[in-house]
Amino acid sequence: MQLTQRAKQVDRTPMTWLEKLYLWNIAKGMLITLRHLFKKKVTVQYPEETRSFSKVFRGLQILNRDEQGRENCTACGLCAVACPAEAITMEAAERQPGEEHLYREEKYAAKYEINMLRCIFCGYCEEACPKDAIYLSQTFAPSNYGRSGFIYKKEDLLIPHPIENPEGFAKARGEKAVPAK
Ligand code: SF4
Ligand code: SF4
Repeated sequence: MQLTQRAKQVDRTPMTWLEKLYLWNIAKGMLITLRHLFKKKVTVQYPEETRSFSKVFRGLQILNRDEQGRENCTACGLCAVACPAEAITMEAAERQPGEEHLYREEKYAAKYEINMLRCIFCGYCEEACPKDAIYLSQTFAPSNYGRSGFIYKKEDLLIPHPIENPEGFAKARGEKAVPAK
C-alpha cells in the first residue's frame, strides 16, 4: 500500500509567462480562504469561552471534606504510595481535643503537597484513597511563570467549606457524588 505521493513524477516543463505571474494560483488560494470564512469556526475563544470536558476528564486534584466541613484525609499515605510519578508528599499529625470539627478522624494531614509538574493525572491517588479524600476534578491546573507555582499545597487543594461556602463546594465538587464512607 502506498502511503505517500513520493512516487509521483514532478512536472518540470518551464512555466509560461502567464504562469509566472501566479495570478491563477493566488486566486485559488484566496478562494480557499474565502470558503473558510463561511464555514463553522472550530477555534474556541479561550478563556472567555471554554469547551466542556468529557465526563471521564481527570483534572486538578481536590482534597475533600465531609458534609460538616471536616477534612476527610487521614494522612494514611496510600495515595503517595500509589502515585507512579512520586508527586505527593505529606506529613501526618494527630487530632487534638477540640479539633473534631476540623478533622474527621484522629489523624490528619498537617502538610499535603502535590507537584503538578510531575503529576500525569492518572487518577491512581483517587483510586487508592479509602476515605474519599482526594479526587481529580473537572478543572485543570492554571499556567504559572515559576516552577514553585506548580507545587500545590493543602490550602490550594482543599475544597471550599460546604457550610460556609456551599456554592463553592458544589462547584468544586462538580458531578462527583459524595459516597457515604
Ligand atoms: S493523578 Fe496520578 S500522578 Fe497525579 S498525583 Fe495522582 S497518582 Fe500521582
Ligand atoms: S488522600 Fe486518601 S489516600 Fe491520600 S493520605 Fe489522605 S486519606 Fe490517605
